[in-house]
Amino acid sequence: MAETLIRGADHILTMNDRREELRGADILIRDGRIAAVGHGLAGQGTVLEARGCVVTPGLVNTHHHLYQSLTRAVPGGQDALLFGWLKTLYPIWSRFGPEEMFVSAQVGLIELALTGCTMSSDHLYLYPNGARLDDTIAAAAEIGLRFHPTRGAMSIGESDGGLPPDSLVESERAILEDSIRVIDAHHDAREGAMVRVGVAPCSPFSVSRDLMREAAILARDKGVMLHTHLAENDEDVAYSLEKFGCRPGQYAEDLGWTGPDVWHAHCVKLDGQEIDLFARSGTGVAHCPCSNCRLGSGIAPVRGMRDVGVKVGLGVDGSASNDTGQLMAEARQSMLLQRVANGADAMSAREALEIATRGGAEVLGRPDCGQIAAGKCADIAIWDTRGIESAGSWDPAALLLAGPSRVKDLFVNGRHIVQDGHMPHLDLAAIVARQNKLAAKLMEA
Ligand SMILES: [Zn+2]
Repeated sequence: MAETLIRGADHILTMNDRREELRGADILIRDGRIAAVGHGLAGQGTVLEARGCVVTPGLVNTHHHLYQSLTRAVPGGQDALLFGWLKTLYPIWSRFGPEEMFVSAQVGLIELALTGCTMSSDHLYLYPNGARLDDTIAAAAEIGLRFHPTRGAMSIGESDGGLPPDSLVESERAILEDSIRVIDAHHDAREGAMVRVGVAPCSPFSVSRDLMREAAILARDKGVMLHTHLAENDEDVAYSLEKFGCRPGQYAEDLGWTGPDVWHAHCVKLDGQEIDLFARSGTGVAHCPCSNCRLGSGIAPVRGMRDVGVKVGLGVDGSASNDTGQLMAEARQSMLLQRVANGADAMSAREALEIATRGGAEVLGRPDCGQIAAGKCADIAIWDTRGIESAGSWDPAALLLAGPSRVKDLFVNGRHIVQDGHMPHLDLAAIVARQNKLAAKLMEA
């Protein structure tokens, strides 16, 4: 029986059903779960003093393309809109292979862990030169994050009127067969699972209507979740109107792409009817504010979504359109953007943090995560508020207003993976060197 006691935290933002905030309280972790939360707890194992710290549930990342951490700040893509940006990057990504997928996933996941994330999804939709979803699953196992990889896909290449080059698309039969393979090999439906696989055709503009429909049937047959990009910007909506004769929400609904087992990335351009559809059907949204700003896509109507009960989580999106991968920065950006759109009282720091934690867990179908409460998975972030960023703060628990952007300690499933700001089980310098070497090779080609 492995126990850890987190003792005497200044503030614990539990995100439990009553949204309680505890002062000077403790958390007892036992066998990967939270055994108790309260004052004066005793434990039989390690004790971690948390005086001077704010403790939150681990942050949850609902949208990422981990492989893109190898193509950050690519000059030709720095100032382009979505479609132009993609066309710059596709030829570079077509030179990736298994090693690129593994190392870039390591880097992306480490960055997430250091900034408080305990659970991440990933959307890998291209598989050049023998790359497999398994490459990223191996990376996540090594880093120690809870992982929801999705088997993405592109099937409509340039010669068929799609956006990606033909070299990056796969046949629809191969896509479905490999989706079945990775679900059978890796998906764990049990409570507390460390790996859950989803099915995720890249976007309505890179796969056929048939594949969207088949993917939905497959996901329901296997009991896994569905994910894609939707209504990201005006070009995206215009494409839908022109090619499908309807708005993205209608397209999604017609093909079985709404429901509590579906979440869509971005949704910047959803209109009122589409927002109601998402609320009614329990469909989730991965809100990616930094990427939306970076690509000039717009401000997602998150206030309106939350007000009618749409499930919203945060996503860093890929590091080719962010170009960082830090969830605390997304939470802050999300709060700021809603204020730009709707006024200073449109979103509090605590609500943004709730979206970043419990909200993300709900989007990913993980009621066992995202809260600090007895019985939940022990995914916990500890923020040191004794440093320069918090000095002078009257409300250190309002972490997004004044607070650290990196964690002091991080627990995933009870495992202490960030310890006093470091990850002792990893050789970070070696991983960075390997990543930079691969990036340099891609630049030369
Ligand atoms: Zn994306």
